[in-house]
Amino acid sequence: MAQTPRPTHPLSIDEAWAFTAANAAATTFFFDFDGVLSPVTDDPDASQPAPAVPGVLERLAEVVQRVAIVSARPVSFLRSRFSSLERVDLYGLYGLEVWHEGEVVTEPAALPWVPAMADLAERAKAELPAPVLVEYKRLSVALHYRTAPQEALAVERWAHEQAESVGLRTQAGRMVVELKPPVDQDKGMVITEGVRDAGCAWYFGDDMSDIKAFDALRAREAVDPSFFGVAVAVANPETGAEVSSAADLTLESPEAVVQFLTAGLTRF
Ligand SMILES: [Mg+2]
Repeated sequence: MAQTPRPTHPLSIDEAWAFTAANAAATTFFFDFDGVLSPVTDDPDASQPAPAVPGVLERLAEVVQRVAIVSARPVSFLRSRFSSLERVDLYGLYGLEVWHEGEVVTEPAALPWVPAMADLAERAKAELPAPVLVEYKRLSVALHYRTAPQEALAVERWAHEQAESVGLRTQAGRMVVELKPPVDQDKGMVITEGVRDAGCAWYFGDDMSDIKAFDALRAREAVDPSFFGVAVAVANPETGAEVSSAADLTLESPEAVVQFLTAGLTRF
């Protein structure tokens, strides 16, 4: 489908934008939220998108086929941070929730796990040391130890015990361990499905779960020689090196993501 040849990896940023602009009508931009569009905060409830983020996403959504946020947060949280965005699609809880035509659609296989997750959140609050922050997200429970890094091992051990006894899965992240229902859904699956009809896609991520999304872009390129995927890492002291090594390029911060997109938008 492409008039211009697909750029090769390692990437020339100039060629990447040129190809993207030439194929804008078949291009999707995917973004993780925490650490990519918003600086990570000690209290996960306090995080906000970097100031220019909503504006730049809306402008991007006007020139490409689709813009979507793919986060471990619930859709309700993402809606609270992006209430002004009309054209940006939202995937919450690694894709267990999707914001579609004005409502949240939940993966049916995950719904029976709601009571178990509520119960787990209560147990976590009672059993884990006080500085560990328990974030209850209806279909998952995140245990944050950013303000208590000395508890990392205790948190991981507790999470793995619970995963085994309740039958859940764990996802490690930046100073966090998350417990999720045993339902096959992750960011890689969201991207695999999301790029099925795309000619070009970009994914911006900063954490371990985002590497699965990068892999989905590579897999698509492997089966479709006309498809072009760009994996962008956002630097951080915890998982930065590993995510960066899996990406085509690395940006320094959420603010740098805004600047990068603002510069790219001049190409359309
Ligand atoms: Mg993140």
